[in-house]
Amino acid sequence: MRSLKELLYYGPGPSSSHTIGPYRICSDFLDRNSSFDLSDIEITLYGSLAYTCLGHGTRKSIEEAMKNKEYKLFIDKESKVIHPNTLRIKAHRNNIIIEDEYYSIGGGSFIRKGADNKGEDTYPFNTFKAMEKEDDDIYKIIEKYEGEDIFDFGKDLILKSFKTIENSLNYSGYLPSKLHLKAVSRDLYLKAQNINDECQKRLMLLSSYAYATSEANARYENIVTNPTCGAAGVVPSVLYYSYKDEHYPLDEIVKAYLVGALMCNFIKNNAYVSGAMAGCQAEIGSASSFATSSLCYLHSLSKKRIAYGAEVSMEHFLGLTCDPVDGYVEIPCIERNGIAAIHSYSSYLYSLYIAPLREPRVNFDAVIEAMKETGEKLPQELKETSLAGLAKVIC
Ligand code: SF4
Repeated sequence: MRSLKELLYYGPGPSSSHTIGPYRICSDFLDRNSSFDLSDIEITLYGSLAYTCLGHGTRKSIEEAMKNKEYKLFIDKESKVIHPNTLRIKAHRNNIIIEDEYYSIGGGSFIRKGADNKGEDTYPFNTFKAMEKEDDDIYKIIEKYEGEDIFDFGKDLILKSFKTIENSLNYSGYLPSKLHLKAVSRDLYLKAQNINDECQKRLMLLSSYAYATSEANARYENIVTNPTCGAAGVVPSVLYYSYKDEHYPLDEIVKAYLVGALMCNFIKNNAYVSGAMAGCQAEIGSASSFATSSLCYLHSLSKKRIAYGAEVSMEHFLGLTCDPVDGYVEIPCIERNGIAAIHSYSSYLYSLYIAPLREPRVNFDAVIEAMKETGEKLPQELKETSLAGLAKVIC
C-alpha cells in the first residue's frame, strides 16, 4: 500500500479531483516537457470534469498550473471516456504533435495513460486484516514503514486544517457562487457557546467546525484533502473539538490523525475516494471512517474497536450519491460535512459502547469492498455530474 504522503495534500478547493488533480496533471505535463518548446496547447475535459468544471473551480486551477503558457481549454460532454475524470492535453513539441491522457482519480491523485503508475509501496500489506497481524500499536506500524518524519508531516497538515477552521470562524458573508448561500459557521459557533445542554453543545460545536472548513472550501481557499476537499470538514472537526474543547495534547492528536489516515488509505487503495468514481459514499463515507478511527485511537480503543468504528462509519453512508446543486460544492456538501462530523462522533460512541456487546458480523475490509461495488453500480448521473437527484432541485 502507498504512503500517507500520497493521501494527504494541501491545495486549492473546492474539489480535490477537480482542482488539485488537474493542477498536478498540468504541472506534470509541463515538467515532463520542460526542455522543449511547446505550442498550440489544447486541454480537454471529459466526463465529470466537463460537467462540473465551473462550480468545481477546474478552470481556475488549470489557469494557475499553466502559469503564463498559452493554451485553449475545451469542454467535451459528449465523447465516451473510460474514466469519469479524464483530461487530455495535446501540444506541438518541436513541431511534433504529442498527446497525453490523464485520469484524476480522487483526493488530488492522478494517473497517466501508458505510464508506469504503480509506484513504490510503502506498506507490505493492503488490507486491515493483514495489518492487524502486526503486533505493534497502529501508530508504531505507521512510523515503522513511513519513518519518524511522518509525525512532522501529519502535524503540519493537522495544524493547517485547524488554521482553516479558525480563520473561517471569523468570516461572515456570502459564499461566492450564484446559489447565494450565507456562510453560517461563525454564527453557529457563537450560538453553540451559549447552549446549556452539554450534548447539544457538543453536536453544534462539531457542526460549526465542519461548516467552517467546508465554507472555506466553497470559497476556493487552500484545503487539506482529508481525504478530499469536498469532505474535508469531517476529520478536522472531530479533532479540533478534541484539541480545543477537550484539551487533548497536540502530539496525541497528530498520532490519532495519522492512524485515521492509514485506515482511510485502505479505502483509497482498495476502492475509491472520488465522488465521480463512486458517489459521495466514497468521499463523506471515507472521511467519516477516517474521523471515527482517529477518535477511537485517541480514546485508546483496541485495533478491533478502531476497525469496528471505521466500518460502522462507512456502512451507514453506503449508496450515498454525489449530486451537488449547480455543480457547486455547497448543497448538499456543507451540511453533509456537519452531519458526517456528528455521525463520526456517534460511530466512535458505538465502538465504545456497542462493540463490546457482541462480535461484529461485517468487517472493515468487507465494507470497503461493498462500497466499491455499490459505487460502480451507481448510475453516472449520480456521480458528480449534477445531472440528477438533488442537483435538479432549485432552491
Ligand atoms: S455531494 Fe459529496 S462527493 Fe459530491 S461534491 Fe458534495 S461532498 Fe463531494
